[in-house]
Amino acid sequence: MLRVAVVGSGPSGVYTAQALLQSRVPDVRVHVLDRLPTPYGLVRYGVAPDHEKIKSLQSSLRAVLEDDRITFVGNVGVGAGGLSPDRLKEMYHAVVYCVGAAADRPLDVPGEGLPGSFSATEFVSWYSAHPDAAPDGFALLARSAVVVGVGNVAVDVARILARGADGLRGTDVPRAALDALVASRVREVHIVGRRGPSQARFTTKELRELGALPGARIAVDGSELALDPAYAAAVGLTGTPLPAVVRRNLDVLRGWAADPRPAAPGRERRIRLRFFLRPVELLERDGRVAGVRFARTAPDGAGGVRDTGVYEDIEAQLVLRAVGYRGTPLPGLPFDPVRGTVPHLAGRVVRDGTASPGEYVAGWIKRGPTGVIGSNRSCAKETVASLIEDAPLLVGREVATDPLGALRGQGLRPVEWDGWLSIERAEAALGRSLGRGPVKIPDWSGLLEAAHGEPL
Ligand code: NAP
Repeated sequence: MLRVAVVGSGPSGVYTAQALLQSRVPDVRVHVLDRLPTPYGLVRYGVAPDHEKIKSLQSSLRAVLEDDRITFVGNVGVGAGGLSPDRLKEMYHAVVYCVGAAADRPLDVPGEGLPGSFSATEFVSWYSAHPDAAPDGFALLARSAVVVGVGNVAVDVARILARGADGLRGTDVPRAALDALVASRVREVHIVGRRGPSQARFTTKELRELGALPGARIAVDGSELALDPAYAAAVGLTGTPLPAVVRRNLDVLRGWAADPRPAAPGRERRIRLRFFLRPVELLERDGRVAGVRFARTAPDGAGGVRDTGVYEDIEAQLVLRAVGYRGTPLPGLPFDPVRGTVPHLAGRVVRDGTASPGEYVAGWIKRGPTGVIGSNRSCAKETVASLIEDAPLLVGREVATDPLGALRGQGLRPVEWDGWLSIERAEAALGRSLGRGPVKIPDWSGLLEAAHGEPL
């Protein structure tokens, strides 16, 4: 029997477990470990609540985790303060790290740490009820918000700010976040890119959604878009055709520039999409963020931008930095600090220049924080192919026959699948008491109480 630990129960972890079940190894047992007592990683704690279709992916991840050959082991951390890679090696023939990219990339500008300035992840964690989210939450007293970055995370957080509570009552968004969104005073949301519209990272479906919000109108300035040579010429730098997603994005932006949605009763919020503005400083008033100073940039002809010496300040009492994620080192595993990933060869962890059979990576910690959820499928398959190739070498080694017993023996309290189902029931009951569908429990003690069926 091949015993494998998969660390992380987000999409990359679950697709890895699924690929293992589909492999030609006849007898495989997989423990899917997670630091949290809940499965699904960023599908539960990253996908926006109004993206119901993507959220519904949970049911296919669930079907994998309910296979008899898989055991969900929640509430067990790996790395700092948790199990070490050496300990896991003693317990399993192979370990696949699917731990994602846990940190936010910094902006590295003065004022970044001012009250009122947050990473987009902090905001997403709050409205997703992540148990590590800032306990004070977001009061949303700001009139104007700046979102820095033009990727899909920027679009997500801007959409939630511009939507307010509209359409969220039927979702599992936690109570405190819903109340704050109902009372939100945000009226202007500026989404700001440092390069041009042809270099934005958002996808077209996500971009279009901004224009479809019933309570918001969208503003783009055609003359700002036209600073991008690709906007007018519809070709890339070297004269090659633009990628389809870029063409589609530019079409949407062109449409908005030509025909801005007028102000109308009920459309009280405005989203402004801005380009060629590089943040240089967060401005302060009375000890809080009051705005962002941007340097106006221009294309440098090589895909980058140069500063023009002109500056523009945008007023904002709330700044969300959505400039990408970064992997963090896991003590005991090698780490490439430049790429923010674990060095690997076809998914095999590389230690001191050589691939190390028995230790693998998949997902964002392997390839960096890019791609859509589905990208994790092929990534996991490549890793599992390497693991299966190594399997004859690995199974000979003696490992723990009862890893869960061993974990309990060292004082841990794993949450297994039944515990997770109890959390689901508790969330359904909480929702019923509020006249809503299931509502997420936002704190560690509530989750663990529900999982173990007893007060802590
Ligand atoms: P991302 O796609 O890498 O976008 C990061 C943005 O931040 C880029 O516009 C980048 O501009 C900008 N940026 C980086 N450093 C900056 C700086 N110092 N100053 C100003 N701007 C800066 O990252 P993401 O939005 O966090 O998304 C991560 C991944 O999750 C992506 O693959 C995304 O598609 C995925 N995701 C998907 C969905 C969805 O499908 N609905 C939702 C959320 C996330 P440059 O290009 O100039 O570097």
